Amino acid sequence: MASKKIFLSEDEIPRQWYNILADIKMNPPLGPDGNPIGPDSLAPVFPMNLIEQEVSTERWITIPDEVLDVLTVWRPSPLVRARGLEKALGTPAHIYYKNESVSPPGSHKPNTAVAQAYYNKEFGIKKITTETGAGQWGSALAYACAQFGLECKVFMVRVSFDQKPYRKTMMAAWGGICIPSPSDQTKAGREALAKDPDTPGSLGIAISEAIESAVTDETGQTRYSLGSVLNHVMLHQTIIGLEAKKQLEKVGEYPDIIIGCAGGGSNFAGLSFPFVYDKINGRQIDIYPVEPMGCPTMTKAPFVYDHGDTARYTPLLPMHSLGHAFVPPPFHAGGLRYHGMAPTVSQLICEGVIEPRSVSQLKTFEAGITFARSEGIIPAPESNHAIAAVIEEANKAREEGREKVILFNLSGHGLLDLNGYERFFAGELSDIALSDDEIKAAETVFAEFPKPQVLKHG
Ligand SMILES: *Cc1c(COP(=O)(O)O)cnc(C)c1O
Repeated sequence: MASKKIFLSEDEIPRQWYNILADIKMNPPLGPDGNPIGPDSLAPVFPMNLIEQEVSTERWITIPDEVLDVLTVWRPSPLVRARGLEKALGTPAHIYYKNESVSPPGSHKPNTAVAQAYYNKEFGIKKITTETGAGQWGSALAYACAQFGLECKVFMVRVSFDQKPYRKTMMAAWGGICIPSPSDQTKAGREALAKDPDTPGSLGIAISEAIESAVTDETGQTRYSLGSVLNHVMLHQTIIGLEAKKQLEKVGEYPDIIIGCAGGGSNFAGLSFPFVYDKINGRQIDIYPVEPMGCPTMTKAPFVYDHGDTARYTPLLPMHSLGHAFVPPPFHAGGLRYHGMAPTVSQLICEGVIEPRSVSQLKTFEAGITFARSEGIIPAPESNHAIAAVIEEANKAREEGREKVILFNLSGHGLLDLNGYERFFAGELSDIALSDDEIKAAETVFAEFPKPQVLKHG
């Protein structure tokens, strides 16, 4: 029987991360005065060892043994040939997915959470603050902090806090503290509540609260951690794509198409960047990040300098942005409700190396159900965005009669997102799209900022 799951042994786990900054040119982050910031200005927020990774242009960065020791609890993750889905669609395409749902918190996020907790610990930090949307990142960081004996405090976007109570329980099980955002514990939170006491919250506001609570901590031993967007987060996630490459080699395949959902860009980047390297060096691959129509950062928003958070604590980052004050409508893929996009992913969009797409909410849940019935795993609502695009490509391959190899990232399972599925079955979900006027209005916040240059690799 032809194999379904392609495993690597623990000995075959990648020992180095791939750093795409070695291969593309980037606009620098800017400080409040409009000048590029130096590493020192980030020191109150992140430990210096992670800041060094953030700005490094070394192509390969060694993964510390202590990090590998924790990652091997579930890594290398399986690469699965989705034969059930292929059959259900009647497609000649070969569909493979990296199953990142097998980690203890159930998503790709601990790949960076574990690395970040390790580097914070190494630097002498005692406590990490962060934000979380759907709760995936908060639970991943709480898990990682528990592995290294660190305290963890999580500001969770209000709408998800109410919709996903069990994520909070997971954080508690790993010893983390989780509070709804906006909260009255920070200036940023109090301002957001004063503006709109009933706000569903947003990642932008929660990031502001988490940064503020780290930098105002009097012990000096608290730092902030971000679960996506930044260069070092993309770096840590490349273990996914590096494993996938080795696994595909074992069965003599190479992807024609690579797909990942994108909120801040990290699971997409993690899978695709090692292949982007090949594409920059001449290989032909179609690479698609997929986002919700309700938060169309890559497909509708311009490439600008903007803040990563609502209270404007972060430097100006060169990225696609709907505006730092934008509060996305409360659709169910909480992990994709972010106004910006990773600068590295944004840069590759500008260069035409990757081609973003968007899908509507109903289509994503339909895709998730098709996957659950044919493959068994109930995917996270975020991952459903990738699956919707995979189904489109597999159908196209059927119409064209072509045996395309499609690789995608199953970024997480949906067992704590059943509320969303329940509402889908009850017919309570609708397609949420933004009008051009709403997008224009949200974008006024960065009109005054400097504009990034158009750069090209090579
Ligand atoms: C957080 C999350 C995402 C989105 O974040 P990225 O940084 O874009 O990967 C996607 N899928 C799942 C399951 C998540 O938890």
